[in-house]
Amino acid sequence: MSPAEASVVTDDLLRENLRQLVNQRKYDLWFHTVRVVDVQPGEVVLSLGNRFLLDWIRTYYTEVLDRAVEATWGEPREWRLVVAESEQTAGGATNGELHEPLEAEASADTRPDPTPPVHVEPQRSAQDEVAWKNQSFFLHHSDVVLNDKYTFENFVVGPSNSLAHAAAYAVADAPAGSYNPLFLHGNVGLGKTHLLQAICHKAMASGRALKVLYLSSETFVNQFIVAVEKGELSQFRYRYRNVDVLLIDDIHLLANKERTQEEFFHTFNTLYHDQRQIVLSSDSPPSEIPSLRERLISRFKWGLVAEIEPPGFETRLAILRRKARDRDFLIPEDVLNYLAEHIDRNIRELEGAVTKVVGYAQLIHRTIDLDLARKALGQAGDSSATRMTGIDRILEVVCAQFDVRPSDLGGRKRTQSVAFPRQVCMYLARRLTPLSLEEIGVRIGGRDHSTVLYAVNKVRDRAATDSRFAQLMNELEAKCRA
Ligand code: ADP
Ligand code: MG
Repeated sequence: MSPAEASVVTDDLLRENLRQLVNQRKYDLWFHTVRVVDVQPGEVVLSLGNRFLLDWIRTYYTEVLDRAVEATWGEPREWRLVVAESEQTAGGATNGELHEPLEAEASADTRPDPTPPVHVEPQRSAQDEVAWKNQSFFLHHSDVVLNDKYTFENFVVGPSNSLAHAAAYAVADAPAGSYNPLFLHGNVGLGKTHLLQAICHKAMASGRALKVLYLSSETFVNQFIVAVEKGELSQFRYRYRNVDVLLIDDIHLLANKERTQEEFFHTFNTLYHDQRQIVLSSDSPPSEIPSLRERLISRFKWGLVAEIEPPGFETRLAILRRKARDRDFLIPEDVLNYLAEHIDRNIRELEGAVTKVVGYAQLIHRTIDLDLARKALGQAGDSSATRMTGIDRILEVVCAQFDVRPSDLGGRKRTQSVAFPRQVCMYLARRLTPLSLEEIGVRIGGRDHSTVLYAVNKVRDRAATDSRFAQLMNELEAKCRA
């Protein structure tokens, strides 16, 4: 039997099985254009006469199709729907209008196995159309209420996040355009969730009736487990595979979850093939997510992978200004500077610091100044950047590491063997103590504040570009705190 004959046989068989599962009227309305396009071991590709039929079937008849496919090939198989090629090139078949395409089908049917003319009841079609349109606007199935502050307008752009921001904006503007999938990664508290939700806000406000689904990967995992337990996989699949924009936050949580990864792989494929937008966030780049399947890693790299880096001083200051302004807090510039210098890893911590300082000022009925800010942060003692550590302890640790004497560091020697450990001390003192630049200068060799600032920046820059050095700084920091 030739492949063409084989496909006619499976077409017939599939349609016969569908007829058994739905009544004739539904069959005539929804299934009469189904054709088998491709059969692979893992997947069957079926075509439909137009986009509207395709969406409708994916919305309401996934289970029926699951069963028909299983009956046709004798085992459950993945299936994927496409719009028939002739319809795509003819244009106009994907516009979601119900009666026109169907009537055109019925009158101009030239296929070898002609389908009986379809009788479409106009009233019924109009209702269906309304039902369809009504449900295509909202964010559904998500356990998340979007934070209305997480918008593009409220996102401060700097060199550390400009690529991620630009890509996110482009995606929201034209889903499934240039960057699909968009994969954002970066450490905790750097704005991944903010950007993902900003995409949701913008896409939903576009007036294009996009179906947007945002959720954490935990939700995806949990709903998958429940669906397996209850035998409701087809509903589960419908939910995830019938959206225009799917955003999954913290996808690294799929690490070590084999079956969910497998399921997500198919979801990804379906959406990607249908040119729907996928946006993912993670705490690390795709290839560094532990035990992530190779084929998922490679797919995540198909589009754009953008890193969000820790913000530099200028951006931190801009964010602090913005947060203070948004909340109507009057915080003097030197205090903002102090916060921006001290808290340099995480924007959530920056926000926390503003809240602490303002809260403390209200508590003790004082206006905010540098002294109060230092006390407020020192008092909280829960953030690594603000924890108190004696400068003597820092000197001790650095001397042991670089094999120099505390008196050398405190002295005025300028040789590299002393100058560099001294800079490291200044850097650690800045990170670990609430002392000002001047105070650190006084304690370490009678330097002025600009020398200290230079040292701090120099060490910080090196840590940013040299991962082994950064590792050493982390170790020293941990020792100082121990
Ligand atoms: P992540 O998801 O990467 O852990 P979030 O998106 O939850 O980080 O961000 C933590 C907090 O920092 C949020 O309140 C967010 O609004 C804020 N934030 C992060 N980046 C920015 C930015 N560039 N501009 C303004 N606020 C930001
Ligand atoms: Mg997040």
